[in-house]
Amino acid sequence: MWIVPESEIAALVSREAAFDAVEKVFAAMASGEARNFPVVREALGHENALYGFKGGFDAAGGALGLKAGGYWPHNLERRGLINHQSTVFLFDPDTGRVSAMVGGNLLTALRTAAASSVSIAHLARKDAKVMGMVGAGHQSVFQLRAALEQRDFDKVIGWNLHPEHLSRLEEVASEKGLPFEAVPLEGLKEADVIITITSSFDAILTTDHVSPGTHIAAMGTDTKGKQELSADLVAAATVFTDEVAQSVSIGEAQHAVLGGLIGEGDITEVGAVINGAAPGRVSADQITLFDGTGVGLQDLAVAASVVELAIAKGVAIEVAV
Ligand code: NAD
Repeated sequence: MWIVPESEIAALVSREAAFDAVEKVFAAMASGEARNFPVVREALGHENALYGFKGGFDAAGGALGLKAGGYWPHNLERRGLINHQSTVFLFDPDTGRVSAMVGGNLLTALRTAAASSVSIAHLARKDAKVMGMVGAGHQSVFQLRAALEQRDFDKVIGWNLHPEHLSRLEEVASEKGLPFEAVPLEGLKEADVIITITSSFDAILTTDHVSPGTHIAAMGTDTKGKQELSADLVAAATVFTDEVAQSVSIGEAQHAVLGGLIGEGDITEVGAVINGAAPGRVSADQITLFDGTGVGLQDLAVAASVVELAIAKGVAIEVAV
């Protein structure tokens, strides 16, 4: 079995590699070659932690395994550790033997950013110029850095509940030589692409804040009850997702589905667009929405690519099991 420690991940995974792995696995999910297993997520009753497993099998890519981990809200203040903690375990699909253990913290940020990027690549207008951000937490910088590579943007605008954190986004924009402007929610009407990446439990963006032709990647809602977009905004958009079952239960679409505004049949897996089995954007004034709920197969796909590279570079540790 190979161990790839968290500390090695940054030097091993490029944004391009994460994008390729996630794009391929979304395509495999839509063609039925890869499937995610039901998610387990439990409150531990200890340290206020949420802990769980996201697993799956990708017959096309040969990845079998799970990501175990969750959210420990007091880590940073009490121990100087990041609050999201996870580890990916891979297994040999032919024998069931464990094949690798890979640090999952940075991988999570990279695979989540890769997911919104894949959606932008396939669904945003080609002439998109203004990139809008809602949220300025840990994930947001990864999201923005990856998104800026998908179109020829000339400006970044952003809103955050705590405006003092927007400087993080300004720094990422300036890496690309782009101006950044903090805006009120109404200011997001200027955006051609919007990523939402907050932990909100109430709608932030409504139809009043989004212009026709915008692509929205809603990435923050990954649990029952969370919400970033009003249900009528979701209903006004053409909805795409990573996995329909998660979109309607723990994703952004849950509220519009519960309210009877849309049904499962109105939601298309982005993998079907990648495969050419479903149309993506069909007009310049359509609002497209990617409901990125986060699937275990994303973690497995990126982790599997990391293990190969780590072995090749001599930084994977081999242990007998
Ligand atoms: P974080 O705690 O670092 O940042 C949270 C962000 O949400 C901040 O910008 C904060 O200002 C904002 N926020 C909090 N409460 C809000 C409210 N009531 N209204 C508006 N904004 C509010 O978290 P993070 O690591 O950046 O993660 C952000 C979200 O993304 C979380 O909900 C997390 O669970 C989710 N996430 C999703 C995936 C996925 O695959 N879809 C992957 C990782 C994280």
